[in-house]
Amino acid sequence: MENQTQTGQENLSQLKSMFSDYQKKQTQSTNRKSREDLLAKYFVPRKTKEIFRILPPKAGKKHIEEAFFHVVTTNAAGGKKKHGTVIYCPAHNDPKVPKLGTDGKPLLDSNGAPMLVPAPCPLCARHKTWLAKQDPSLKGIKKENMNDLQLVVKAKNDEIYKEAIKWDAKKFYIVRGIDKGLEKDGVKFWRFKHNYKNQGTLDKLLPILEDYMTSQQADFSDAMTGTDLNIIMTDSEFNGHVYKAISAITAKGKSPLHADPQVMQVWVDDDVSWRDVFLPKKAPNTTPYEFLEMVAGGTSPYWEDTDQTNKHWVFPGRPDLEEKANTRTMNLDSDDDDFEQASDLNEELPRVTISNITPDKVGTFTDDATDLGKETLAAAPVAAPVAAPVAAPVAAPVAETQVADVSDDVTDNDSDSNSDYDDLPF
Ligand SMILES: [Zn+2]
Repeated sequence: MENQTQTGQENLSQLKSMFSDYQKKQTQSTNRKSREDLLAKYFVPRKTKEIFRILPPKAGKKHIEEAFFHVVTTNAAGGKKKHGTVIYCPAHNDPKVPKLGTDGKPLLDSNGAPMLVPAPCPLCARHKTWLAKQDPSLKGIKKENMNDLQLVVKAKNDEIYKEAIKWDAKKFYIVRGIDKGLEKDGVKFWRFKHNYKNQGTLDKLLPILEDYMTSQQADFSDAMTGTDLNIIMTDSEFNGHVYKAISAITAKGKSPLHADPQVMQVWVDDDVSWRDVFLPKKAPNTTPYEFLEMVAGGTSPYWEDTDQTNKHWVFPGRPDLEEKANTRTMNLDSDDDDFEQASDLNEELPRVTISNITPDKVGTFTDDATDLGKETLAAAPVAAPVAAPVAAPVAAPVAETQVADVSDDVTDNDSDSNSDYDDLPF
């Protein structure tokens, strides 16, 4: 009798989880966002005073999450360069992938389990190759003990190191919350860079949150007993550039998240994660991996919108991809990201259900699951055609209606522009 009840309860809980899974899928399909919707999910303090409320973390998540992005220079409209482009790093953010042997089969460890390595990232690979160029003969020698020749080598090593760190993935913190000045946008994500000099946003935020916790004996993110945060912004000058910087953060004091309990619940329950917002970059007919390869080679594609009557994609050095990007139709690209599989298949491959893994990325994993270091070999030749940006005329004959379709992809390519405030470069 007891057993029967238990089984009944188990069934019920299984059924419950089915409903919640199904609901999740429903919201997942609406998680595909337009460029504007996506930008509305970024919290970027810019006004002199901003008010932000940190939301309680979802189950299994932290109040302040850590994620990694490359901050690099990419090509931009008008043949310009865009500095400080923030790009998702697969090696640091994606699940590890099986390491493949020279025969293409997964290598096993001594327990017979597949050996795992970080997902390949052409930018991390570039970082590694640069580091390897340093002269190792100085290892363990203190600067004051170096002779003149060694000092010359050291200076060279320092130059190499400076180039190498440009390609390194940078640690960012991400906080989920509500912009009290723009409540209609709902849940947003505040992303800021780790600062090695302890002068970053986190270093200003943590003492305030800790103080609130001890003085109020409450969780700063609690929907009832948490606090709104005042963020005071200022213009800060460095190296001739003016940056938006946080001058102070203060806790406003205990208050409910929102006067309307229903609104409050919607915000607290919102399933959108930072992975739905800070997406890997890509361009038409290219995977995020290929996009990273092009960034590493200096040939990152971009949406050319300088001439209002001739907006089009530019793929430096790749006229084939450029033509394809500017002539394809809606039908050809519509289902790239939405490739769904039978539900029982998903159960056998739990990794596929992780939100940021799209079918095209899974393809990339199996193709390229080798050492990060190896990737540079593949990435290096891409650098060759950098010098010759392809002229616009390729795209000229494209009919206007097609261009309108194509522009949808700006979502993927340029979701960061205007959205991340300039961090001080230290
Ligand atoms: Zn990387």
